[in-house]
Amino acid sequence: MPELPEVHTTATMLQKLLPGLRIKAVWTNYDSPHQRGKDNIKDPKFFRRFARKISGARFKKIYRRGKNVLLDLDNGQTILIHMKMTGHLLYGKYKKITNNQKTITKKEEWRVVEEGPLQDLKNQFIRFVIALSNGKHLALSDMRRFAKVTIIATKKITESEHLKKLGPEPLDPKFTFAKFRQRLMTNPRGKIKQVLMDPKVVAGIGNIYSDETLYLASIHPLSIVGKVPEKALRELFRAMKKILAKGIDLGGDSTSDYRNPFGVHGKFHHHHQAYRNTGNPCSRKSCGGTIHRVKLGGRSAHFCNIHQYEYN
Ligand SMILES: [Zn+2]
Repeated sequence: MPELPEVHTTATMLQKLLPGLRIKAVWTNYDSPHQRGKDNIKDPKFFRRFARKISGARFKKIYRRGKNVLLDLDNGQTILIHMKMTGHLLYGKYKKITNNQKTITKKEEWRVVEEGPLQDLKNQFIRFVIALSNGKHLALSDMRRFAKVTIIATKKITESEHLKKLGPEPLDPKFTFAKFRQRLMTNPRGKIKQVLMDPKVVAGIGNIYSDETLYLASIHPLSIVGKVPEKALRELFRAMKKILAKGIDLGGDSTSDYRNPFGVHGKFHHHHQAYRNTGNPCSRKSCGGTIHRVKLGGRSAHFCNIHQYEYN
């Protein structure tokens, strides 16, 4: 699942591409019986409202909050996109293919017209398309169809259900160590990896960046938050900022489906020291440990069995 550095990469790139462009048309083939009556374009009724609200508007500003991409329009509305498991936004020239064979339903799909990385297999699951005034398209590829696309009045966005429970942004310069510790201590009996991944505690951290942060901070993922001494928590705070900044510098992580808006891989997955390195020797000089994997709340945690200390 895209985490803070991937969503940040997408939003930063789109901010360079979209402002000033007008929305000419919008299309989706999302349609889920489980989303009826919800404010999500997977409800066809909602999608018709959504299409009316955005048609003709211009993009004003694209930014990120937690794992959400926010696209402000010049008509007081904001499109919110959460990429969830396999979603990622792409920018390029696409064309619609209509399959007119005598099937029960008319089948439409979108194919990219340009040569290059947008042709990557992971970019071919186009579920949502916005046609832009410059002849290009903003497209959402989402193999597993878990992504969320909705619209909210811009001035209500921070108080909306989608964002109001989100914890602070870990890279915000105003997010101090004292604040970080206070957020962690909302769950003192929790296991540190799970607490770090809780979006109410701190926004944007998932499985990959929590493993790498805890490795760098020398803290075992099953450590009990309330038992970790202050010195180690300070180390954790520094490690979290460092790892997330590194993820952004490397254009995100493409272990899974993530691609940037030009369809290109990030590079963070070439720098994993713990995540999915099970059985490999620890890369820390003279540590001598091995990377182990442990199940934790339906997910996996990866850690070095020597230098990551378990506080409990
Ligand atoms: Zn080690």
